[in-house]
Amino acid sequence: MEKGITQLYILIAKVTGLMNLQKNYSLKYLNTFGADVSAKYFLEINSEKELDQFIQSDLRKNEQLLILGGGSNILFTRDYDGVVLKYSKKGISVIEEKENFVLIESAAGELWDDLVKYTVQNKLYGIENLSLIPGSVGAAPIQNIGAYGSELKDVLHSVEYFDLSDGRLKNLTNSQCNFGYRDSIFKNELKNNFIITKIILKLSAEKKFNLSYKSLSEELKNIPEHALTIETVSQTVRNIRRSKLPPRNN
Ligand SMILES: Cc1cc2nc3c(=O)[nH]c(=O)nc-3n(C[C@H](O)[C@H](O)[C@H](O)COP(=O)(O)OP(=O)(O)OC[C@H]3O[C@@H](n4cnc5c(N)ncnc54)[C@H](O)[C@@H]3O)c2cc1C
Repeated sequence: MEKGITQLYILIAKVTGLMNLQKNYSLKYLNTFGADVSAKYFLEINSEKELDQFIQSDLRKNEQLLILGGGSNILFTRDYDGVVLKYSKKGISVIEEKENFVLIESAAGELWDDLVKYTVQNKLYGIENLSLIPGSVGAAPIQNIGAYGSELKDVLHSVEYFDLSDGRLKNLTNSQCNFGYRDSIFKNELKNNFIITKIILKLSAEKKFNLSYKSLSEELKNIPEHALTIETVSQTVRNIRRSKLPPRNN
């Protein structure tokens, strides 16, 4: 009976467009700790349309759900008896340019550090201190990622998320996210009820750095201010992190 239901889900899902649905799927290479566990169902989603299809599926109604980003902050201790959904949509673009700031938008499926590299290459100041933090863009607002004196909330303009309770795409401004130290609305009021699909950052087009963190300013003390570049700050953060943290695999 159980096997029959499972096959039916897969069949219906494929017919209704959830082409990337997998059954009994290993998560070993999808979590930083390499836990050798599997998901009853694994669904990779690349568009808002597929999200709509999922929300209307029997799978959503009948199975528990876990959203997976880069798997760097989830410790699996057993197989997951439900649907593990990975929102993989990628894309980074500039959506507004003014004299002293730029709004850039990133889809949630991007790796956070790829977004940092994009901003460094394009000389957009604000997230260079957050270089090399593991994980996805989509997970970054949840705990308001931070390092070396900077936090996401310092530059976040807004977040787009898919509300699992009514299947609608919604937006939150920075202040509506209720950011705190490693905290946000996503860990509280909205817990378990959202999939982050996009973030928008407001970055500075004018050269400015946050060197308030002691170990960072120590490393850079011999470089005169006028000679300091965003590449140097980002690379210095990378060097410090690499000297302290275990290797990452995402
Ligand atoms: C070696 C190491 C160093 C780290 N250094 C730092 C650091 O300096 N600063 C810092 O702040 N953090 C740090 N972290 C923590 C980690 O980088 C962050 O928590 C990161 O945001 C996790 O991203 P992820 O995509 O891997 O999330 P996952 O581990 O996949 O998921 C984490 C949580 O977010 C949810 N989630 C993921 N994506 C979405 C989405 N699109 N929509 C809804 N929910 C989602 C998951 O359900 C889960 O609850 C570090 C972790 C490691 C292992």
